[in-house]
Amino acid sequence: MPVSVIAIVALLAAVIGPLLRGLIVRYSVPYADAPDGDVSNDGDGSREDVSARPPAWRRECPACCQALPGAGWRGVAGPLAPTGRCPRCTARLGPAPWVVEIVAAVVCGLLAWRITEPWTLVALCWLALAGVTMAFVDVAVHRLPDPLTLPTYLGLLMLLGVAALVGGEAGRWGAAFLAGLGVAAFYFVLVLISPAGMGLGDVKLGLSTGTALGWAGWTVAVYGAAFGILIGGLASLVLLATRRVGRKDELPHGPFMLIGALVMVLAVG
Ligand SMILES: [Zn+2]
Repeated sequence: MPVSVIAIVALLAAVIGPLLRGLIVRYSVPYADAPDGDVSNDGDGSREDVSARPPAWRRECPACCQALPGAGWRGVAGPLAPTGRCPRCTARLGPAPWVVEIVAAVVCGLLAWRITEPWTLVALCWLALAGVTMAFVDVAVHRLPDPLTLPTYLGLLMLLGVAALVGGEAGRWGAAFLAGLGVAAFYFVLVLISPAGMGLGDVKLGLSTGTALGWAGWTVAVYGAAFGILIGGLASLVLLATRRVGRKDELPHGPFMLIGALVMVLAVG
């Protein structure tokens, strides 16, 4: 794509950044700690400890407990300022200032630099923006919530569907769809082998990364899925060696799956 298009795509991604930041803050909700003992059998007749369930999303600023500003549609989405602070109490909220906006702009700019088909670029930028959101949530709380992974996948399928219709490439869409299922199935086997490692959120993200990789080809999907695991493993070795994490600490897999997919897509253009 020409430099002007790259600049416009990067600028648009940066402008969307505050919306991603709003999603990141709302969905960076940890699993609630497991209740001590069996809650349903503690003698006082309480059936279920509702507080032990993970809340679906954050509605208030954790510091001042006031509703998050700009709640938007049903409170699940709304922009938050790139300053990374609650506008009511100025407490730090979510990722560091401007980081989300800059990462979104860089990733979408790189895609615009390498991808020549307009609808493919739209579809991959959709995944990139959702991926930035999910990566920050995964790093913060080691979760990839369904309200992020599943709409991302459906949106990607639809946008690639448009790309396939425009380009007259129905077969390519079918291959991408199957590659997504294949990569997700591969991650699912890894979850079965080692439940302490990957989670089902990673499997659902694998649907999206596998589909995007499969759009570029079967071998790209295979290498991309393997590459994500490889760099995740290398990163955990480096962090262990430098004692940044302990042997029992879990690393989020989502960011590495996304980086692996991005590198492969950029490499094959
Ligand atoms: Zn606040």
